[in-house]
Amino acid sequence: MKYLNLIFVLLTALAVTGAEENDSHIMPADAALMNMAESADSSTDTEHSGHDVQDMMPGMVMNKSADSSAETVHAGHEMHGETAGTGNAHASTGPVDLGAAVITGALGLALIIGMIAFFQSLRGKDLLEYTWFKKLLKSNLYPKILQIPTLFFFGFITYYFFWGSLSYSQNPGSILAWTLWWPLVPLTFILLGRIWCVICPIPLVGEFFQKFIRPTRRPGRFLIKYGIWITDGIFIAITLFDRLYGMVDKPWLSGMIFLLITGGAIILSIRYERRSFCKHICFLGGVSGNYSMLAGVSIESKNPERCATCRVRACYFGSGNTPGCPYAQFMPAKIGMRNCNLCASCIKNCPYDNVAFRTRSIASELWSHAKVSFSESFFAKLMVGIVIIQNLGMLAVWSNLQNWVMQFGIGEKMAVILLYFAAIVLPLALMTITSYLSSSLQTEKGTMLANFAAFGYAFIPIDVAGHLAHNLFHLLAEGKSIIGAFLGLFTGRVDYSGAVVSSSVVTGLQFGLIIAGGFGTLYVAYRIARAKEQSTIAALRIVLPHALLLVLVFAVNLFLFITPMAHRGG
Ligand code: SF4
Ligand code: SF4
Repeated sequence: MKYLNLIFVLLTALAVTGAEENDSHIMPADAALMNMAESADSSTDTEHSGHDVQDMMPGMVMNKSADSSAETVHAGHEMHGETAGTGNAHASTGPVDLGAAVITGALGLALIIGMIAFFQSLRGKDLLEYTWFKKLLKSNLYPKILQIPTLFFFGFITYYFFWGSLSYSQNPGSILAWTLWWPLVPLTFILLGRIWCVICPIPLVGEFFQKFIRPTRRPGRFLIKYGIWITDGIFIAITLFDRLYGMVDKPWLSGMIFLLITGGAIILSIRYERRSFCKHICFLGGVSGNYSMLAGVSIESKNPERCATCRVRACYFGSGNTPGCPYAQFMPAKIGMRNCNLCASCIKNCPYDNVAFRTRSIASELWSHAKVSFSESFFAKLMVGIVIIQNLGMLAVWSNLQNWVMQFGIGEKMAVILLYFAAIVLPLALMTITSYLSSSLQTEKGTMLANFAAFGYAFIPIDVAGHLAHNLFHLLAEGKSIIGAFLGLFTGRVDYSGAVVSSSVVTGLQFGLIIAGGFGTLYVAYRIARAKEQSTIAALRIVLPHALLLVLVFAVNLFLFITPMAHRGG
């Protein structure tokens, strides 16, 4: 019976969605609240006050107007209190015009296909053949020219995290961090891999200390072998913490997490040489490392034979004032772009000018691995559930699901934790089944774990697409607040807010991204299968179980973007 209730709850959420589409005067939050109020009415032991309804709906505030005054927003924030999750269901950007959404989606898709074709046509080109580009990368200006503005930018953000408004929508630091930076940073991963890591302010503080301490100790076996599992744990902990306590919505809490991570980076920088924190522990480094396998560029040896006879090995050890590779990469042994932040130290250091900055096909690293890593692959699969739960948490259906769990007598926070882990474990369990089926269909029998590791990389395109589509909503539907936040850096207030485009454009672009990510994932899975099998038929046979699951993940993502999302802040 309780399972029937769950189906009913899901159908109710869908009905709410449909009602909103038919009546633009009813905004998602309002509809969800009405729905919730009705649920509360029917419950014998639930009080009817708005506050109680709010308490049952983490991530949602009671504000009903997109143009609420600062006071109202602040009140909403406080009411949001300790039960908040990311994002407050607040206002819609208006009804979706299907025609406009389809046209925008098609244009977005065409843009993505054009970008992929552009990198495909240029593949193999060494961009260092352009003299100006080579001069720039070899000059002392690079990467400082990128690092210094970012340091100032994040200095302002950190200041406002602690000394700005308590309300997300009035805090320039929060808006610039979560509405601008977080949505844009994955875009850089696709085009330029881990380039964010070269300008990230967190390791720069650690590197400053390293100038005086000059640590020479290398990370131990534990960190090298299990670092990525620690990264997984930190990533789960931070996203769950956000869901439980509304880290993103509370500027000071965002600031605390930022300081904690910076503290970790400083400690590891003092203890170990190079960027050990970025390479082995940083959760953002884990995400960017995985996503950077999509990158359309690659740093590699021009002539491996030259490297084989090289005695100086300056790419690894450094030369003059330029240190060796911060990720301890030795050019002839370097595999892919997972551990490369395009800092260009190797280009500066190599006395034989033997390092190339090549363009390559987008995502080609995902199927051309010299060595498959189970832990990397696991991280990609883990991200499937985390991206889904992050999206789900912004929807009205989230609170309905939470209430459904709570009717078993489970507390509110425990309900969030259970749902969170269910969203992570369920895709992993299904992936284990598809890996078992796929491995049993292989011509050359392999283990289920080897199959799981190989096909895990295929999920990276849909992960990135889900992440981008989710955050595109914040970037565009809350876009005017970014301008307000930039102006607010000097005044401390955010006087400007609202959407920069209509709901139709946002929805169209989200669908374009999810469709591109879905097909990208299917294509990568096929290429991985093709690398294992001699014939197309045999490849299709082993990819089939994974493809069925990928279609399911694709459909879930599409469903999530049909449902109206909530804005951050109030
Ligand atoms: S990249 Fe340059 S410094 Fe590094 S091993 Fe090759 S030739 Fe030597
Ligand atoms: S030194 Fe070269 S290989 Fe190492 S991170 Fe910088 S660009 Fe990448």
